[in-house]
Amino acid sequence: MKPASLEYVRPRSMEEALAVLSDETANAKIFAGGQSLGPMLNLRLTRPAKLVDIRHIPELKAVRADARLCSIGATFTHAELEDGAIEDFTRGLLPYVARGIAYRAVRNRGTVGGSLAHADPAADWVSTMAAIDATIVIRGQAGERRVPAQQFLAGAFTTELGDTELLTAVELPRFSAAARWGYYKVCRKTGEFAKAIGLAIQDPKIGLFRILAGSPEGRPALLTRSAETLATRGAEHAARDAREEIEEVLPNLAPAHRQQLIAAVQRSLGQILLVEAA
Ligand SMILES: Cc1cc2nc3c(=O)[nH]c(=O)nc-3n(C[C@H](O)[C@H](O)[C@H](O)COP(=O)(O)OP(=O)(O)OC[C@H]3O[C@@H](n4cnc5c(N)ncnc54)[C@H](O)[C@@H]3O)c2cc1C
Repeated sequence: MKPASLEYVRPRSMEEALAVLSDETANAKIFAGGQSLGPMLNLRLTRPAKLVDIRHIPELKAVRADARLCSIGATFTHAELEDGAIEDFTRGLLPYVARGIAYRAVRNRGTVGGSLAHADPAADWVSTMAAIDATIVIRGQAGERRVPAQQFLAGAFTTELGDTELLTAVELPRFSAAARWGYYKVCRKTGEFAKAIGLAIQDPKIGLFRILAGSPEGRPALLTRSAETLATRGAEHAARDAREEIEEVLPNLAPAHRQQLIAAVQRSLGQILLVEAA
């Protein structure tokens, strides 16, 4: 099937895009990489009257960085992060995650902002940005607002974004040289959406200790108690605590799925141990 007939607009600035989106009678939808929206249009699961292609807006391809924070524009593609098109603020984590998303043809077009706005809970960036303690930057006609990535996802395919707003950038803390991280994605074959994601980060210099269990069932879960153990007693003890905490914070998971999550989180912590032992 092909999409129902629609108007295509290609704004050259954020203001132009927001002006189109703010007209609530226009029934407009943002188009970024089209990797999720394309199939939905073809299947006529969504029928916007206007597609607003945001790929030619320079501000959405901007990188800003200082000693503490880094901001990457929403339309950077997974492939650009994989290829190191921007400075590696996270000591290899972003390129590593990007490399495991889908396959190259999808990564060439799919964008970080599109993935976050689409909010598939199985998506790699949804879990990664929540684990990193990133901030999502949102622009509307009324101005700019910032939402912590962990709160941005309200539930599966539901976010804090309004229909007339644009996700413009993601702000991340800059990891120090002491940072260690582990990322483990359980999926049937390489490049598929995750069945479970485990992500552990320890960066004592900037005080960032986070452990996350990401699942297609809904919002990713931060394991705060295990993260405290990671900070005070290290990854091996945290891996033991994580099993119990996953059972507590995600009590309704099917046993097989819970086991996948526990394995993903424990393996991510195991990756930290391996780096420390090297
Ligand atoms: C075969 C296949 C396999 C895949 N495997 C994986 C995988 O393993 N892991 C993974 O994480 N993802 C996977 N994906 C998803 C893919 O990586 C894309 O990131 C994702 O589809 C959406 O990004 P996009 O830029 O293409 O957004 P689009 O498809 O253009 O848009 C998606 C939605 O977000 C909205 N939107 C887009 N950009 C913005 C913005 N800046 N502000 C506000 N709203 C916006 C659109 O209006 C639309 O509703 C896969 C996709 C395919 C087709």
